[in-house]
Amino acid sequence: MVVRKIELTKRQDQIIKIVKEQGPITGEQIADQLNLTRATLRPDLSILTMAGYLDARPRVGYFYTGKSGTQLLTENLQKIHVRDYTSIPVVVKENVSVYDAIVTMFLEDVGTLFVVDQNSLLVGVLSRKDLLRASLGKQELTTLPINIIMTRMPNITMCEMDDLLIDIAKLLIDKQIDALPVVRKSDKGYEVIGRITKTNITKAFVALGNE
Ligand code: ADP
Repeated sequence: MVVRKIELTKRQDQIIKIVKEQGPITGEQIADQLNLTRATLRPDLSILTMAGYLDARPRVGYFYTGKSGTQLLTENLQKIHVRDYTSIPVVVKENVSVYDAIVTMFLEDVGTLFVVDQNSLLVGVLSRKDLLRASLGKQELTTLPINIIMTRMPNITMCEMDDLLIDIAKLLIDKQIDALPVVRKSDKGYEVIGRITKTNITKAFVALGNE
């Protein structure tokens, strides 16, 4: 397995050191001290500025922001919201059979189904193991309705588009669940408008690492 290390190059470290000690300092002056041309240095300076280590002010030069890699990572983490990573929710009506729910889970390739009533409002959640457990019994799966076996309202953990993804990641761990419905509250109940799973959180984690 190849693990991509995300760290600063030797030259980027040198640039930070110079700016830390002498900032504000122009790109030209940094280049002089490293015996490089301004053009050679340009990609490094833009990486360091984009990553938040340095601040560039027109006609003044570069400043050291004083932020560590960990601080910058935390700051970036606080900018990721549910809406940036949500998936399309897969919902089933509460009167469908366990058999049909299993088929839907395979066809839609998801691990959690959200259950809604005839008004499309959230009433329950079905996980893989809920369906497996029901399959162990002697009941006829084609006639057993899912609303008997689902986890039901008001015991559903939900989130909203504006929530921070890091808070949702903590919820998934605390509650020991794999997925949350993203909902929009109306006066009648909760409309399911998205889905956040451990996969979405993993994607955000990878994107953060690649930044
Ligand atoms: P699995 O049971 O397949 O490992 P989960 O860990 O997600 O999947 O589910 C564990 C239990 O928690 C199941 O009974 C499921 O119905 C319930 N559950 C799953 N997601 C939620 C949620 N968002 N809110 C409340 N209960 C949930």
